Amino acid sequence: MSKPNEPVEPQPRGARVRGDRPIDQEEAAERFLAAPRHQKQHDERLWSLRQKRDSEMWKIPEWEELRSLASLIKEHTLSRLDAYLETFEANAKANGVVVHWAKDAAEHNRIVQDILESRGAKTLIKSKSMLTEECGLREHLTAVGVDVVETDLGERIQQLDEEDPSHVVVPAVHKLRTDVANVFAAKIGSDPDDDDPQHLAAVQRMATRPLILKAAAGMTGANFLVAETGAVVVCTNEGNADLSALVPSLHIVSAGIEKLVPGNSDLAVFIRLLTRSALGSPITQYTSHFRGPRNGGEMHVVLVDNGRSERLGMEEFWTSLKCIRCGACMNTCPVYRRSGGLSYGTTYSGPIGLIIDPTFSARKYSHLPFASTLNGSCTNVCPVKINIHEQIYAWRKVLVRNHATPFVKSAVMKAAGLLLARPALYRAAVQGANTALAHLPRFVIYNGLNAWGKHREAPKPPGETFHQWFKKTRGGEK
Ligand code: SF4
Repeated sequence: MSKPNEPVEPQPRGARVRGDRPIDQEEAAERFLAAPRHQKQHDERLWSLRQKRDSEMWKIPEWEELRSLASLIKEHTLSRLDAYLETFEANAKANGVVVHWAKDAAEHNRIVQDILESRGAKTLIKSKSMLTEECGLREHLTAVGVDVVETDLGERIQQLDEEDPSHVVVPAVHKLRTDVANVFAAKIGSDPDDDDPQHLAAVQRMATRPLILKAAAGMTGANFLVAETGAVVVCTNEGNADLSALVPSLHIVSAGIEKLVPGNSDLAVFIRLLTRSALGSPITQYTSHFRGPRNGGEMHVVLVDNGRSERLGMEEFWTSLKCIRCGACMNTCPVYRRSGGLSYGTTYSGPIGLIIDPTFSARKYSHLPFASTLNGSCTNVCPVKINIHEQIYAWRKVLVRNHATPFVKSAVMKAAGLLLARPALYRAAVQGANTALAHLPRFVIYNGLNAWGKHREAPKPPGETFHQWFKKTRGGEK
């Protein structure tokens, strides 16, 4: 239970999404920062995942070899993707699975709708799948009269609260226990004052189990597709993928074409890396291999492109397709931890989102690659060795070249470029800034135009600049 007189802090909502207009991540981040309890819990929770990941990593002497191997396997598979996809299709068909191909989100949604309609299925239970979020499947099916129920606890919380997931692994991590208690009280009639996590999980289980038992169809995503066996592999900690796949007689899998691995021995490398990187636990509770329909049932796999082929042809960005959606880059990112995943206004947030999102719309997501300190921590933790911070930097160059950045940012960067290219001018500017900092009234320095100074104080200017000191002493040389 929360403490009786603790002030209620409303949960900050995500970025405002207005068609194809650029997402203002800064504005949403500022609102998240203005909610100290939410911000603190979010930061601490994700940092604890990062620390657990580190301690698991240190237990495995061959960790770096595993990362290199995983990277090589993914690069090998992606460079022969057509062949591996055909092998997977042939083996899945031989196992009794119906395989569909979708070139984009609309086709994916139509295929799923057709399968459901042709069997008269009006209720669908599904486990967590970022691809279905990317395609807007739930909204699409709801609009045509299909009742969709998320079976992952975090996803269900987000569904009931009519919000998108804020993290690829822990979708409701931005919420406090009190937020969840309020959502459940409003939507399933539980006690709003009881925010005990065990109680909340039990309430949700009792409310959702009957819906699972009578659902006409089930859906899962895919963590991996194994070409040599035609199997779909799904990792969960709640067993909800197994319920979604095996309770109804109709199982539909939604899978991105980049999920392929050649064989089971390759799969083992990723299974060792995935949950250690994601949650800092040695193994997921359930690693399920779905190789065919259950007895008397049907299984369909929808292989979705939705821009992936195009990304595969982008010289600087194709390796982003190696991503196994572990979320480690988010957990370590100082910007993500402090601003919350919903501030990005898109399905994929955090460092990996900054390089995937502009491939969907360079205009809408033109501000996102600037929401990074480029410290490289994301690259260091990525289990498949994606050079994330270098790709973020590469996107910045592309966006500036294409004039897709805000006018003020471009003008400031141009001025900074001119200044940094002229040493004498730069030294004069530093000297001038030091004098100004020492003598100008506070309101001239800390005002609405100085975004940097909103949350920080400039240090006291030194008596002399480094350049002056070096010129005088030659760095201590005699
Ligand atoms: S980019 Fe790397 S660290 Fe980030 S989610 Fe993907 S696999 Fe994990």
